[in-house]
Amino acid sequence: MTISDTILTDRTVALRQDFPILQRMLPNGRPLIYLDNAATSQKPQSVLDAMDDYYRRYNANVHRGVHTLSEEATAAFEAARTKVAKFVNAPSARQIVFTRGATESINLVAHTWGRANLGPGDEVLITEMEHHANIVPWQILQAQLGFTLRYVPITDHGTLDLRTLPDLLTPRTRLFSFVHASNVVGTVNPVQELVAAARAVGAAVLIDGAQSAPHMPVDVQALDADFFVFSSHKMCGPTGIGVLYGKRELLEAMPPFMGGGDMIREVTMTGSKWNTVPYKFEAGTPSIAEAIGLGAAVDYLQQVGMAWIQAHERAITQYAYTRMAEVEGLHILGPAPDARGGLVAFTLEGVHPHDLSAILDRSGVAVRAGHHCAQPLHDRLGIHASARASFYLYNTLEEVDVLVQALHKAQEIFTL
Ligand code: PLP
Repeated sequence: MTISDTILTDRTVALRQDFPILQRMLPNGRPLIYLDNAATSQKPQSVLDAMDDYYRRYNANVHRGVHTLSEEATAAFEAARTKVAKFVNAPSARQIVFTRGATESINLVAHTWGRANLGPGDEVLITEMEHHANIVPWQILQAQLGFTLRYVPITDHGTLDLRTLPDLLTPRTRLFSFVHASNVVGTVNPVQELVAAARAVGAAVLIDGAQSAPHMPVDVQALDADFFVFSSHKMCGPTGIGVLYGKRELLEAMPPFMGGGDMIREVTMTGSKWNTVPYKFEAGTPSIAEAIGLGAAVDYLQQVGMAWIQAHERAITQYAYTRMAEVEGLHILGPAPDARGGLVAFTLEGVHPHDLSAILDRSGVAVRAGHHCAQPLHDRLGIHASARASFYLYNTLEEVDVLVQALHKAQEIFTL
């Protein structure tokens, strides 16, 4: 361990106090070692308090009431939108649409922008390393609209094979939709290069930031994304709320996603006029407490510092990568630590990832096992499933040591 690693760990020990769940013991008497952050992150006390405060003191519906509670709720809800806009450096809070999560954000774009812009002869380009959330909506739409769905292949190292881009990006490509940071191989994609290649053929760009926004500074203007999506629950916020950022002219030109209250300006027996963005896309009562919780999560992450979080995860991932590689029969999926985010997916020869996960659980270590909603990626790598340890701001090098010890133990048990 280097001095800088020690400093990182010391700060983390202090930050852990902010997360009540990290203080708990498991039924087997072991402390919780939570390494399943790519699935969902834990929540600090400030997020729990912000949601509790809303329900206890000013629970009311937003936008509609002219009474004190409704005005307070509306102010807190809209303040959360402004915080999120600043978090990703969106030019305006009006470009932040609240959804249920990254999945719904992508579906929203598919069913509004997609329906208005895609047809036979058109192409949508995604990649082999996408989460199902950025595959299935396009497959559903493809069956209805008749466009062609193409995939950028990956190399054996789990990076995009950029040599194929000139063939795959053509004037027929209407949209290039790709993951910023992979939830399996961990690869952080060269966004600037990918966006420039899309622009050169006039394609719009959607970036799936579900695994990047929680872990690194994100500037949607610098990335020049047309759409950027992410989920609150992976960044210390509650479940049930996510974000679609979009360029203003695109959002304004898009038809609504769902119909109902709040998304209209006027309704008559014969038709309706839509509200302005972002409300045009937010039909019905939104997830109010969840938006307020997300706002508190943004405050928390900014107070810790996104650059610090990124550096901390790099240190942990580098350490985990080196230590895990020492385990006999363990194969790490994806590129070297300097090209990846804060997670390590792997297989252990002779041990099914589900069995492995159950054994690690006995040591208090929570990892994920399965295809991580990325079946085409696993198919491409020639495996059915993998195990995944994913880190966040509260993980320590000592926790990685416990993981590695438990992996050695599992390897011994299964090769006896
Ligand atoms: N995209 C990526 C890369 C993900 O890792 C995930 C969730 O694991 C999603 C999209 C979907 O996020 P959600 O389930 O919060 O909608």
